[in-house]
Amino acid sequence: MSTELLNVDLHCHSTISDGVLTPAEVAARAKANGVDVWALTDHDEIRGIPPARSAALDLGLQYVTGVEISITWAGKTIHIVGLNIDEKNENLIRGLAETRSGRERRALEMAAGLAKAGIPNAFQGALTYVGNPDLISRSHFARYLVEIGVCDTVNEVFKRYLIEGKPGYVPHRWATLAEAVKWIQGAGGEAVVAHPGRYELSPVAFDAFFNEFKSYGGSAIEVVTGSHTVDQYAEYTKIASRYGFLGSRGSDFHGPDDAVVDLGQLPPLSSTLTPVWSKWM
Ligand code: AMP
Ligand code: MN
Ligand code: MN
Ligand code: MN
Repeated sequence: MSTELLNVDLHCHSTISDGVLTPAEVAARAKANGVDVWALTDHDEIRGIPPARSAALDLGLQYVTGVEISITWAGKTIHIVGLNIDEKNENLIRGLAETRSGRERRALEMAAGLAKAGIPNAFQGALTYVGNPDLISRSHFARYLVEIGVCDTVNEVFKRYLIEGKPGYVPHRWATLAEAVKWIQGAGGEAVVAHPGRYELSPVAFDAFFNEFKSYGGSAIEVVTGSHTVDQYAEYTKIASRYGFLGSRGSDFHGPDDAVVDLGQLPPLSSTLTPVWSKWM
């Protein structure tokens, strides 16, 4: 099959980070939804790769190794996806372990903030949603706050409690852009800016960010993602062309209930862009 016709989904999450399905369950859902080429990209964690790969192999899915690394750039949290990485690379493993460390302390501080706002025991509550003790995330708090009826939806929890300026928000310093790109490239992979349309950066800051990313060897940006509007598909197609970036496509699926877009259901990447998967296919 020519690569343009493939259904490619290179961004999603399992219970190894903040998704609700196991890696094997995500693989099965990708297959059922018609995905041909699939990457699991858990936050700051690659422990899902072996079960994801073996499930994909059994299902006849073409499997691509992946990870989504949290970074801090100009005081903002940004996500960099690494694709086609060697998950046995020591520097990558060490870097991700460093990036994960501090999540538990941050979660305890988040719980303290929520307790002050009248929501006790949120740490214990969030933990009941955690599949990997090394990876407690804001998503787990959000699910618990919905469970106890503080908000109706996860999105509302984020808006009212978990974003900057809200009671459960704790500023955190993640990896640097240079580190994330270096770990990914050192492991033989492609660095991809995840859902660029989600960051609140001015045009000048965006330009500086893309140029810096490129100067380290970053090669691609997500254009068609569950986090973008249809207008943003066009906007980031233009931006990818302007900077000479390859384009990527991924749902950012986290689970059947809170999925904005399900696995493999996005429109195709514009044929004017070179897909990032052309690097290894
Ligand atoms: P963390 O890495 O702990 O800061 O958590 C970040 C995760 O929270 C993201 O990967 C999303 O899955 C989730 N998230 C962030 N903002 C929202 C939102 N507005 N609605 C739902 N989920 C969100
Ligand atoms: Mn997430
Ligand atoms: Mn992300
Ligand atoms: Mn994601």
